Amino acid sequence: MAAQTKRYAMVIDLRKCVGCNACTVSCKIENQVPEGVFRTWVKEIEKGNYPQITRFRLPRLCNHCDNAPCLAACPVQATYRAEDGTIMIDYDHCIGCKYCMAACPYDARFINPIRKTAEKCTFCYHRVKAGLLPACVTTCVGGARIFGDLNDPESLVAKLVANNPVQVLKPDMSTKPMVFYIGADQDIMGARYGDLEKGERKHG
Ligand code: SF4
Ligand code: SF4
Repeated sequence: MAAQTKRYAMVIDLRKCVGCNACTVSCKIENQVPEGVFRTWVKEIEKGNYPQITRFRLPRLCNHCDNAPCLAACPVQATYRAEDGTIMIDYDHCIGCKYCMAACPYDARFINPIRKTAEKCTFCYHRVKAGLLPACVTTCVGGARIFGDLNDPESLVAKLVANNPVQVLKPDMSTKPMVFYIGADQDIMGARYGDLEKGERKHG
């Protein structure tokens, strides 16, 4: 693979997320995601017992992991890493075997019910190539989603990651996610909430 000059990443500032799901909807429209499945969604999480309950909103998507287990799991190399670090799927080669779905610890993938291939967030690769931002970033009402090149120290994402106590989902999995959260509750980020993903895409 050629030397990677860019490394796209996303920062999600949970202090700014208002839970409106504008991201969910704009992603659906931009990527023509069929009914019942989602490339990004906003998980609502409750912690504690009544009456001491705290609610969290956790926008979710593929983490475009640096150490992505879905890559090695694909038997036909339909899953690959693009030159900017983004994890992509070649729909013409995907055989829909779901190995990648089993390998992903974040339940980021699904089978497109129309195309019958694996699918997930691409960081809106087509838009970024055209000099645009991902659809979810442009429509985020609270300005909670920030996207850019982590390898560029002058980019806002690089500065946010460098200057904030950012967290990633399930850090113990050593997948090195490229989606960083600011203001997350430590308990909802860890593997201890392993059941978190079950059925979560039904939300939104
Ligand atoms: Fe692969 Fe899942 Fe990581 Fe996305 S979140 S790169 S699908 S392992
Ligand atoms: Fe690869 Fe497609 Fe199988 Fe996933 S479903 S492992 S992308 S062939």
